[in-house]
Amino acid sequence: MTDAPAPLRLFNSLTRSLEEFVPVHPGEARVYSCGPTVYNYPHIGNMRAYVFADTLGRTLSFKGYKLTHVINITDVGHLTDDADAGEDKLEKAAAERAQSIWDIARHYTEAYWADVKALNIRQPAHWSIATDYVPAMIDFAQAIADRHCYELDGGLYFDTTTVAHYGSLARVGTDEGESRIDPVEGKRHAADFAIWRKTPAGETRQMEWDSPWGRGAPGWHLECSVMSEALLGFPFDIHTGGIDHREIHHPNEIAQNQARSCSDASGARFWMHNNFLVERSGKMSKSSGEFLRVQLLIDKGYHPLAYRLMCLQAHYRSELEFSWEGLGAALTRLKRLVMAIQKLRDALDRGATRIGNKKAEHLTRLVLDQFEPALCDDLNTPVAIKVLEDLVGLGSAPIDVILEIVEGMDRVLGLSLLSLTRADLRIRPKAATITEEEIEATLARRKEARAAKDFATSDTLRDELIAAGVEVMDGDPLGWDWRLGE
Ligand code: AMP
Ligand code: ZN
Repeated sequence: MTDAPAPLRLFNSLTRSLEEFVPVHPGEARVYSCGPTVYNYPHIGNMRAYVFADTLGRTLSFKGYKLTHVINITDVGHLTDDADAGEDKLEKAAAERAQSIWDIARHYTEAYWADVKALNIRQPAHWSIATDYVPAMIDFAQAIADRHCYELDGGLYFDTTTVAHYGSLARVGTDEGESRIDPVEGKRHAADFAIWRKTPAGETRQMEWDSPWGRGAPGWHLECSVMSEALLGFPFDIHTGGIDHREIHHPNEIAQNQARSCSDASGARFWMHNNFLVERSGKMSKSSGEFLRVQLLIDKGYHPLAYRLMCLQAHYRSELEFSWEGLGAALTRLKRLVMAIQKLRDALDRGATRIGNKKAEHLTRLVLDQFEPALCDDLNTPVAIKVLEDLVGLGSAPIDVILEIVEGMDRVLGLSLLSLTRADLRIRPKAATITEEEIEATLARRKEARAAKDFATSDTLRDELIAAGVEVMDGDPLGWDWRLGE
């Protein structure tokens, strides 16, 4: 046991090791998370990245830092291939659907925000929209153009050999890295990337701006360097993204930051990456198979916070395999927690036990000695959840203190444990037409029939419910009286 709070240690992808978090500005934590490219709905794998960033932010707040979190919205520049090949994802979607890019961007940004809300991800201090920063991107590009860039017919390219240790975040030498990147004609090195993409002669793009290199649009990597510096300063504390960004996008941001600052500074002290959510069939995709969106989980009757718990049950640096059974298990676990907490609150309402200081102190210790160190150990949420369950299971006294601590823990986990009810967590597919009132009324009649030993009526009522897609769950240990099948 120690009296001092555990120091926060985070895995820094730059050094591939755990490092103690020491903020750039004392008492503050400034975090930038690469946001979604809004050409389509985000899948639940994308949302894992934001549950992770949110858990990081909540942990920093829990540790007492004044948090400034920025998540950007990429509405320009992200090509169909991360390494500057292919078309702009938004231009492509707009052409395919004969819609305006601005409408597409607005629609999918709102869809993303709906998922953010459903998963109880806290609003960041800023949602930075890439197209709002194009003049700043042009300024940035002008500042580095002479020493670090060269012009081709296609646009302004960054020469990755002009900065020290290009690509060290990805741990590949430039030669090795070259094999993974499609060559663009005239590029000096395969890893070089576009800072500005000129609109080809004779074409117009829906999104284009004038620049010293002709009319066109910025490269995707440029936006994050510009927006993070504009909103968080240079350097700031933590930059996050999915593990795929460790390979190309973030090394390119770092190269730009080095060029701009005329130093080796990467721009952020910590670069943190969440591992992927995968499907059994392979990599998650927005384009193949059943499109796993948060809305699909909701339509199938799962409360979205069951998915949040599913994410938190795994460490963010581990790959997580999605399955419906796994989601069902997370839902049951969440329900068990909510019911146990409800039981404590009911007992408290009935005037049940409060305790003396000694036991309260013991519980506070439990938090300090287990919960906080788990979080401080590179956000070990699987262990933190277990500590919470142990706490809730401590039984009768001291209920008020337990509940207070649960509230504090939930501020970090974001599972709404004190506002969710058992009924909220019922599986209720959108396609079901029977209402909860109808189900409850039929079940009440069935209960009466059984009490009167009228088993024929009881069976008929049960069959009626089965026909309406309701599974009656007599004696279920978790107290599910019924559930709606798919
Ligand atoms: P995008 O909209 O494609 O730029 O992706 C948004 C975020 O989701 C980025 O941080 C990606 O690295 C991350 N991401 C993409 N696919 C997955 C996945 N299957 N699991 C976890 N994170 C992902
Ligand atoms: Zn980014």
